[in-house]
Amino acid sequence: MTSKYMALPQGVSENQFDAAIARFQAVLGAENVLIDGDVVRPYNKVMMAVPSEEHTSSAVVTATTVEQVQEVVKICNEFKVPVWTISTGRNFGYGSAAPVQRGQVVLDLRKMNKILHVDAELCTALVEPGVTYQQLYDYLEENNIPLMLSFSAPSAIAGPLGNTMDRGVGYTPYGEHFLMQCGMEVVLANGDVYRTGMGSVKGDKAWQVFKWGYGPTLDGMFTQSNYGICTKMGFWLMPKPPVFKPFEIQFDEDSDINEIVEFIRPLRIAQIIPNSVVIAGLLWEAATCNTRRSDYLSTPGATPEHILKQIQKDKHLGAWNVYCALYGTPEQVEVNFNIVKGALKKLGKGRLITQEEAGDTQPFKYRSQLMSGVPNLQEFGLYNWRGGGGSMWFAPVSQARGSECDAQYGLAKQILNKHGLDYVGEFIVGWRDMHHVIDVLYDRSTPEETQRANACFNELLDEFEKRGYAVYRVNTAFQERVAQSYGPVKRKLEQTLKRALDPNGILAPGKCGINI
Ligand SMILES: Cc1cc2nc3c(=O)[nH]c(=O)nc-3n(C[C@H](O)[C@H](O)[C@H](O)COP(=O)(O)OP(=O)(O)OC[C@H]3O[C@@H](n4cnc5c(N)ncnc54)[C@H](O)[C@@H]3O)c2cc1C
Repeated sequence: MTSKYMALPQGVSENQFDAAIARFQAVLGAENVLIDGDVVRPYNKVMMAVPSEEHTSSAVVTATTVEQVQEVVKICNEFKVPVWTISTGRNFGYGSAAPVQRGQVVLDLRKMNKILHVDAELCTALVEPGVTYQQLYDYLEENNIPLMLSFSAPSAIAGPLGNTMDRGVGYTPYGEHFLMQCGMEVVLANGDVYRTGMGSVKGDKAWQVFKWGYGPTLDGMFTQSNYGICTKMGFWLMPKPPVFKPFEIQFDEDSDINEIVEFIRPLRIAQIIPNSVVIAGLLWEAATCNTRRSDYLSTPGATPEHILKQIQKDKHLGAWNVYCALYGTPEQVEVNFNIVKGALKKLGKGRLITQEEAGDTQPFKYRSQLMSGVPNLQEFGLYNWRGGGGSMWFAPVSQARGSECDAQYGLAKQILNKHGLDYVGEFIVGWRDMHHVIDVLYDRSTPEETQRANACFNELLDEFEKRGYAVYRVNTAFQERVAQSYGPVKRKLEQTLKRALDPNGILAPGKCGINI
């Protein structure tokens, strides 16, 4: 039987869904309730190595006010319709805008895009979900506010609220985004509007400056979860420094990773180098500068070592390319740069490249922009490496310890190559941890390669887990699998919370493996 919907929510008949849609239309206006295939289809576009049908949404609704979000939640409860919330919806490689389960209604908050407040003295911002980094950047520039953003690489089109809800990362000293979040407003499944931290105090002025409030601090509970819909978020912004000094250090051998990490860690923990340093592998940097695999090879499979060396030579890259920056007064920057140079001399390897030497060349230019809060889209070049639109981030966490990073790198490369895919990865140095981020790139237009990518991703998860490693974030197709890595006690607690807060299971059931 054909349906007017691309999919239906699980357990909901077409008649029931018709009634829910009519109610959405009454509350939001017909123009904000999308069911037509042509307009819904872009929301269903995924890059994961599973059939798109598993993540097809039934409809898309857009809200513009908190009250409308409350109404949406009310209707969802009445008709037992599950809803999947997106802010700017650019979660590429982690599920894009599509829901975790087939048939969920996408709640698109892109139209709630007001910058509610920027405090130039306290260096804070309060925004709605649809605000993009580009919008915020333009606002700061136009109003001459000397504050700097930290953002994910798809900066121009992604946004701070959605990125922080998924605990994303950036490249400045404020690169651990959830750490810099301060104050959240959340619509709960029962329609209540809850504010974290100081936000519930009548007349309060400290919502964006003091994270903890009183009693349990619940902000973290709403990230990477399905306990609420965030409608406002506060976060901290870094003052623009008088001097910004980006630099790169290139290392020639894969095996240098151990020593690189040992060299960087003390500088990073002591805040000599304050930003989220990136240690980018060869193919990452080559791909972002539009190097295509087909420029070198026409045969399928993993790229052979001699070709990798050729690319390294042709593109003037390192096997590892380390990007750091210093921020501060001329005196501070000079002192810290001398410390870095001293440590590098002691290490006895690594080619230091400064802004003056790099000029306007890529990838130095876009890396420097990421480290100084200037939006760009250069990193989308990654998709040209293999082509075909397949991408899944495999992002295990590691200690910032050379031997650990070496072990993770070796294991990941071996598994990827076994499945005929390449290691396209980077390490992002938090203070004491590494986000090891690997883009599992594959040609999604080829069913055989898609199958291999799926098998590869499963094997990466299994083999890493056997050695005590787990990912910090994963695409929607593998969220249930990853929840298992974290063990039954955590899952039981999460389910207990879910049942208490959302007894009808209307908020993104299945997200991060959390169900009623
Ligand atoms: C080339 C490339 C480079 C990338 N580099 C980075 C990077 O440097 N760092 C990084 O972190 N990511 C990176 N990504 C992944 C991703 O694109 C970004 O994290 C992006 O910021 C996420 O999309 P978004 O900001 O539009 O958030 P959204 O897609 O709107 O939201 C992300 C998730 O959070 C949840 N969510 C969103 N809004 C709400 C809400 N209001 N209430 C409750 N839950 C909500 C949803 O489940 C959603 O799936 C990269 C992707 C690509 C393609």
